[in-house]
Amino acid sequence: YKAKRARLKSHVYAAADESNGDDRLRTLQELRTALHTDQFVLHFQPKLDLRTDEICGVEALVRWDHPRRGLVYPDGFLPLIEEGGMMPALTERVLALAVAQAADWAALGRPLPVAVNVSASSLVDDELPEFIAQRLAARQLPACMLKLEITEESLMDDRDRGRRILHRLRDQGIEISVDDFGTGYSSLAYLRDLPIDELKLDRAFVFPMADDARAAALVVSTIGLAHSLGLRMVAEGVENDTALAELARHGCDQAQGFHIARPMPAVELDHWLSLRVRERQTLPAR
Ligand code: C2E
Ligand code: MG
Ligand code: MG
Ligand code: MG
Repeated sequence: YKAKRARLKSHVYAAADESNGDDRLRTLQELRTALHTDQFVLHFQPKLDLRTDEICGVEALVRWDHPRRGLVYPDGFLPLIEEGGMMPALTERVLALAVAQAADWAALGRPLPVAVNVSASSLVDDELPEFIAQRLAARQLPACMLKLEITEESLMDDRDRGRRILHRLRDQGIEISVDDFGTGYSSLAYLRDLPIDELKLDRAFVFPMADDARAAALVVSTIGLAHSLGLRMVAEGVENDTALAELARHGCDQAQGFHIARPMPAVELDHWLSLRVRERQTLPAR
């Protein structure tokens, strides 16, 4: 599948780059069609537990499998999805796909919690908790197998409503993670009073850790902050072994990044996971 991936890569296309108004309108129309014809697919990026060295879950990342253009990445179409008011529909689609995949893994006897990104514009939807409860029930998936990643912005937009929805989701047993932590607006206030389980430190802090003492200090103190609040700390954008080792040394709980694995389709992930198990069986323990 290496050749296939290279081919897909060359087709990567930013739909939102189209400055021409006609093209934009056409792409908006194509996105509406895409929602009804299953053109959205999920790739999954593993999360590594730094204590046990086990894969403890995955993040679902949406791609648009465009019939002519090939795979389009989120940055290339999410702005248009927002603009066209299609975010709630996309979120439902992604949640349905994620729950289905998590249920398939659970049925195979290898449960793997799946984290789904939920944008600010979906977190104002009062029907979201009920929708999720229905999907989980339909696939008989325990709520702990689904996690939601929200950004700091989504918490600031409509605080009371967002908080209400989050509380309902968490009461259902769904864990909430704050994505891109450190890049958004003032964070300390909601850390105090929102129902969250996990902080995901943005890769803007993780990436420069190796050569930048300030970035490293921020990472270390954020790990301390998370733990003192009883929250799990996850680092994203781990691109090399130095960063991985430093994060582990400072007690970071989980890591995600190209150094561990890129996001990939579920079948590829299955393959990757079994290879990893086999390699670990033949290697001495780290
Ligand atoms: P995110 O949730 O912060 O996801 C992490 C992004 O960083 C992903 O990009 C991932 O492929 C990339 N990444 C992972 N490891 C590394 C690394 O080591 N180095 C670098 N440079 N990048 C890494 P992707 O898939 O293009 O997604 C971009 C953003 O789009 C996501 O950021 C998320 O905010 C949004 N997104 C993705 N899927 C969905 C979705 O289903 N719904 C919504 N609402 N947003 C989504
Ligand atoms: Mg995320
Ligand atoms: Mg992130
Ligand atoms: Mg991001």
